[in-house]
Amino acid sequence: MLQLVWFKRDIRLFDHQAIHHAVATGEKVLFMYIAEPSIWQAGDLAKRHFTFMQQSLEDIQQSLRKIGGELYVAIGEMESILDDIYKMYGAFRMHSHYEHGIQPTFDRDLRVKRWMHEHTCLWTEYADFPVVRGKNAPRRRDFLKEWIKETILAIPRQVFSLSTVPNGLTNDLTILESLQVPGEERAIDIRGGEKEGIAYAKRFFEEKYMRYNINMNKPYVAPSSSSIISPYLTWGNISLKSLMRAVQKHMKHLKQTANPSEYDFLFEQLKSFQARLEWRSSFVQTVENFPMMHIRSLDSRFEGIRHQNPELLNAYIKGETGLPFLDACMRSLQQTGWINFKQRAMLATFGCNVLLLDWRVVGKVLAHAFTDYDPGIHWKQMQLQSGIDPKHHIPMHNVIKQGKENDPKGEFIKLYIPELRHLDNTNIHEPWSLEINPYITPIIDLKQSMDDHKKLLYGIKKNGHASE
Ligand SMILES: Cc1cc2nc3c(=O)[nH]c(=O)nc-3n(C[C@H](O)[C@H](O)[C@H](O)COP(=O)(O)OP(=O)(O)OC[C@H]3O[C@@H](n4cnc5c(N)ncnc54)[C@H](O)[C@@H]3O)c2cc1C
Repeated sequence: MLQLVWFKRDIRLFDHQAIHHAVATGEKVLFMYIAEPSIWQAGDLAKRHFTFMQQSLEDIQQSLRKIGGELYVAIGEMESILDDIYKMYGAFRMHSHYEHGIQPTFDRDLRVKRWMHEHTCLWTEYADFPVVRGKNAPRRRDFLKEWIKETILAIPRQVFSLSTVPNGLTNDLTILESLQVPGEERAIDIRGGEKEGIAYAKRFFEEKYMRYNINMNKPYVAPSSSSIISPYLTWGNISLKSLMRAVQKHMKHLKQTANPSEYDFLFEQLKSFQARLEWRSSFVQTVENFPMMHIRSLDSRFEGIRHQNPELLNAYIKGETGLPFLDACMRSLQQTGWINFKQRAMLATFGCNVLLLDWRVVGKVLAHAFTDYDPGIHWKQMQLQSGIDPKHHIPMHNVIKQGKENDPKGEFIKLYIPELRHLDNTNIHEPWSLEINPYITPIIDLKQSMDDHKKLLYGIKKNGHASE
């Protein structure tokens, strides 16, 4: 029987359960990626992600060919592609990973399940992350303990490929160019692909992790010590399990080799990285439990209080608010596709709580800009940062204070706002204090907006309505 490997957000060959199980049958395997308009045009994904995905597909096509395989792609909805395969080959078995996404992917998976059932074809999904599903699922912590011990799967030495495929499928990846995806075509610094992902992980352990905690909040130096592995985890270019096992290996190695005076410090850096890899899955679990996370507020009392303001939104997106540190962060993100956690939180709270823009709109702007956009982490963070998660406080970061703390010399600002290069450490954060402001006039009175909106948002949180 024909075996199908359906790639989704798991574009790699190493430690890939679906590939392992399909190849282990000894049957011919059809490896495919389907660019579905219903997913790529749903609104949260953008050209930046599609480019990263295309690069990832090119990379695994090369790798697959080395072991006798071939990658086929198509543009279309899954059911119609499955129809075509069924017409040519009859019943087949399909293997894929569990996708943990928002409503469009959740609904698509239900439709595919129905199709498979109606055609008496078997679909096996494998857990790529320690995220649990269903009523009888074990507790996530217990599942994680077992999951992390599972064997890491090598790339198969040889696979048996098909010689003919239905008309809709092709091994010419350039056909993907014709799919319309929202967003601008922008060059990104981070290139997709399994080889790239492995190189990023290697660089982190060999050169970067030593100052992980010290630099993580400072955008000027964060790229030199953060892993920037997030896009590779999000698009599945690297297996989370293998990365977590690599951390354990490096911890052991450190114990055997580190100078005792350095050991505690270096171990702390790895421990902190390890903790974040674990947080990752707890965030993804939230969207698995609640796929409407991108549109429904966890606390409905905040519905309707934020506004649409195209002028403010436009200045925010372009990094032209007149607030230098905030603008530098946004311009950096738009150019590179990545920024560190602390500044993501600041960008989100500024958009949602200081400008008081709709959190879904701000969330979409940021999702389009983050190459690592992951629905689970992203939408839960958006709810947290906009203060609509009832279990948490309402964050309101002062962007001037943040700039002074995390970019004290203004080096990051100067990198992205060249017209401020001549200013000293003090003036660069508040150029309007100068007799003639060499920068854009701020679009809002920061202090006033923060005070007003703090009152409004806490009023709702405490009393269920805005306080007088
Ligand atoms: C508003 C907002 C939106 C975010 N959206 C995303 C997103 O769409 N995709 C995404 O991968 N991360 C997101 N994050 C979390 C975090 O900022 C990034 O994971 C991190 O900056 C990626 O850089 P890195 O790979 O160098 O991380 P490292 O610090 O090297 O951490 C290693 C890995 O741990 C995970 N991780 C790190 N921090 C967090 C966190 N706070 N929560 C959950 N997992 C974490 C990521 O997978 C990351 O790659 C968001 C944070 C905020 C505040």
